[in-house]
Amino acid sequence: MEKIFQQQQRFFLTDKTKSYAFRERELKRLLDVLIANEALFQEALVKDLNKSSFELYATEIGIVIASIRNTLKKLKSWMKVRKVKTPLYQFGSKSYIQYEPLGTVLIIGPYNYPIQLVIEPLIGALAAGNTVILKPSEFASHTEKALEKVLNKAFDSRVLHVVTGGVETTQKLLSLKFDHIFFTGSTRVGQIVYEAAAKHLIPVTLELGGKSPTIVDETAKISVAAKRIVFGKFINAGQTCIAPDYLYVHAAVKDQLIEMLIETIDEFYNDHETQYGRIINDKHYQRLTKLILKDNVIYGGNSDSKTRYIEPTLLDNITWEDAVMQEEIFGPILPIMTFNNLEEVITTLKQKEKPLALYLFTENKSVVNNVFNSLSFGGGAINDTIMHVANPNLPFGGVGHSGMGVYHGVASFKTFSHAKSYIKKSTKIDPKIAYPPYTEKQEKLVRKVLK
Ligand code: NAD
Repeated sequence: MEKIFQQQQRFFLTDKTKSYAFRERELKRLLDVLIANEALFQEALVKDLNKSSFELYATEIGIVIASIRNTLKKLKSWMKVRKVKTPLYQFGSKSYIQYEPLGTVLIIGPYNYPIQLVIEPLIGALAAGNTVILKPSEFASHTEKALEKVLNKAFDSRVLHVVTGGVETTQKLLSLKFDHIFFTGSTRVGQIVYEAAAKHLIPVTLELGGKSPTIVDETAKISVAAKRIVFGKFINAGQTCIAPDYLYVHAAVKDQLIEMLIETIDEFYNDHETQYGRIINDKHYQRLTKLILKDNVIYGGNSDSKTRYIEPTLLDNITWEDAVMQEEIFGPILPIMTFNNLEEVITTLKQKEKPLALYLFTENKSVVNNVFNSLSFGGGAINDTIMHVANPNLPFGGVGHSGMGVYHGVASFKTFSHAKSYIKKSTKIDPKIAYPPYTEKQEKLVRKVLK
């Protein structure tokens, strides 16, 4: 591991990764490899999480293929040295921004979207001209092995290398002096990564989790809201960082919403063998089943430990004191809370850690303004769930406890680049105004100019 890291550092210093041609070639290699091995990845994703063939293409393989194509289309323009305005008092100067790669970077991924969440940052890292060590999650073990096999065969290890293993491996990686660490995972492990990075003053991007609220007010189109909430909550059996964690619904529309949620779940997941995911491992299965309070179940609640299946489950009459509200759920359990006064909801949410996402269902513009101006969260949607993640023009990331830094599209390129900023000054004129010894006249002039 250390040897490969050093080889990558040495290779980076040759400047070979900096040209457009090199970056383009590596991105095309990644694209070809993903397309050629789609079947292998599909098989692995089904074994790890029982993803449906639609889900695994839309959220794992297709989405990163589209992202590589988008990056290839725009990379040349992103790489251009950019001229920016210069203040008048710097007469004779021109100002520029040049994006340069950071060096050798580490990408650590979680288990829930085990391809997308390592390949998407990898696209940015390669596009920006870095060399990369990739550490997929050991929990999605079939996908981890598939990524290792395919990528390590296709890429020169001085450019990209996949390292597999658990906590010990990650901790060894974290002791190396990378130029950037891009981590996606839990807030708890994010803190460990941040601490390790601080030792060498390594910049980090932390894509973490949290409890993302969904608010449904009395003006919302309930039939549409129900479909979009069920879609965002139960995709990948709830193991989605931006899934609606819990529901806050206005008392006036609560019964109607619950009725439609149940109807929608029945319609979407009738064939749960092929359409619905499984929990990644026994530890998470045990953790989740403990959160299902029988007295609060109004739909679902059943599970099967052999296949790690947990039915889409709705819990009613939940309060902030319940166990299910103490931590991010990250599974197919949807607690429902009721409100009469939106201001009270806003006041409550202001006291909580800033979530990764927030969803608001309403037809009332002033409610949108109120919620979106009052509350802080990574990103979100009005009258939808999770889809903001699929627009490469929107920087994606958390705030506060849900993370720091953003990626996707040009934001990924910038995350893995340093914006080297400089001025170029003409030598034709060299007025004395800025040089000592300073006279009263000079000071007067500077006061005028800097007003
Ligand atoms: P996790 O934090 O348990 O693991 C993530 C990675 O960290 C894995 O590769 C693992 O090997 C490594 N790791 C685990 N313990 C470690 C330790 N003690 N020291 C060093 N490395 C360690 O996360 P997970 O369970 O795989 O994923 C679920 C979490 O990730 C949820 O909280 C979810 O919200 C979050 N998540 C966030 C995003 C996002 O984009 N913000 C996306 C997906 C998941």
